[in-house]
Amino acid sequence: MPTRDKPARNTTAWWREADRKHQLSPFTDYKQLKGSEAGARIITRAEGVWLNDSEGARLLDGMAGLWCVNVGYGRKELAEAAYEQMLELPYYNTFFKTATPPPVELAEKLAEITPAGLDMVFYGSSGSESNDTVVRLARFYWKLRGKPEKQQFVSRTYAYHGSTMASASLGGMTPMQEGFGLPLPGFHHVDPPYWYDFGDGLDPEEFGRRAAKQVEDKILEIGADKVAAFIGEPIQGAGGVIIPPDSYWPEVQRICRKHEVLLVADEVITGFGRTGHLFASEHFGIEPDMMTLAKGITSGYIPLSAVMVSGAIGRTLAEEGGEFFHGYTYSGHPTACAVALANIAIIEREDLVRKVREETGPHLAKRLAELADHPIVGEVRSLGLIGAVELVADKKTHARFPGGRAGGLCRDHCFANDVVLRAVRDSMVMAPPLTISKEEIDELVSRLRTCLDLTAKDLGAG
Ligand code: PMP
Repeated sequence: MPTRDKPARNTTAWWREADRKHQLSPFTDYKQLKGSEAGARIITRAEGVWLNDSEGARLLDGMAGLWCVNVGYGRKELAEAAYEQMLELPYYNTFFKTATPPPVELAEKLAEITPAGLDMVFYGSSGSESNDTVVRLARFYWKLRGKPEKQQFVSRTYAYHGSTMASASLGGMTPMQEGFGLPLPGFHHVDPPYWYDFGDGLDPEEFGRRAAKQVEDKILEIGADKVAAFIGEPIQGAGGVIIPPDSYWPEVQRICRKHEVLLVADEVITGFGRTGHLFASEHFGIEPDMMTLAKGITSGYIPLSAVMVSGAIGRTLAEEGGEFFHGYTYSGHPTACAVALANIAIIEREDLVRKVREETGPHLAKRLAELADHPIVGEVRSLGLIGAVELVADKKTHARFPGGRAGGLCRDHCFANDVVLRAVRDSMVMAPPLTISKEEIDELVSRLRTCLDLTAKDLGAG
């Protein structure tokens, strides 16, 4: 092995080498990253919607980190909330009949702002944990209701509910399951309401009803007396920003009610203003029995998640009794809950949800619509500040470029051109901080157009 001079500590070269040697990052091809000369891009600071890397570049963060930095970077108030709470009481648990003020205050606030009926909360530290909690809670609930055989779950392919064994079983990402012994027994999947790829030439609303009917068919196939819950993201985020037709959710809800199947909305991405509503369930008319929250609850400044639970489930737990053998050391972490309260106060004080609904969301939709005439763009769609651009070889048939390379190529061009967007298969997806200005949206879309041109050139199209 040739020896290299050891780079000076805390320089870009040093961080890259130490990263290569010692860090196993999530969702990474280790051979590819560890073998590459370039290594990781080191992000060192951020302000508003702008990231700085260790080499002085400034990147527009079109993904709000991982769909989470809703109030933008650089909020002193959130740092102060954490600092003050850490000095007062950095940690104490909520096990064994104890509580601390921040999780109690946050529970009351969440009960007030989440859709009607959801008035109790079970905390965790990640979206994955909150969805694991849903699995436990749903099974526990049905046992208390005298239906212990209601154990099974229905969800969708392309769904992302987390990376733990249960949440990845709820999810519908094949590469996360194959070779890992997943999904675990008792987890079933139906197609997503993804009109662009699965529409079969149907009218979108008709397609939405057909996709909902798959949920009913699956429940009947398993036996309604065995199905505990159906879980879905109101908009499937990591699966490609799949925005269902309006006909879908009311029908799914009707089916769940009819068959006594709990309806769980995973609002880990869509919660806290992302769609121009505080929760996307409000937009789609969903009245969930449980709702999972994470990410935007603290704008990613500190880990926290929550499962909101309906009064009916809460009453059963309280009236029937019996210990719920489940919980995490950090359930109701006081520092994380203090940051969440300060974060929600910012969202309210700055009127961010209305701004997304009435100002920046429509502006993003308008600017994205201008990309529709690009030779490799098949469809653009968005709701509030979450959106997608489909890359296609044939706009008419929706045929993709061979090899499924278009998305990856475009994402790499974006990264090289200092705009962070994500590729899901051949869709470019975006979810910038909710504080993004109209001018910054213009900048984002203009950089994306440049990268679409570069991608088209690579693919010999347009
Ligand atoms: N649910 C949804 C809808 C998500 O998008 C994610 C993460 N992207 C999760 C759950 C899992 O959250 P975490 O990574 O915090 O475990």
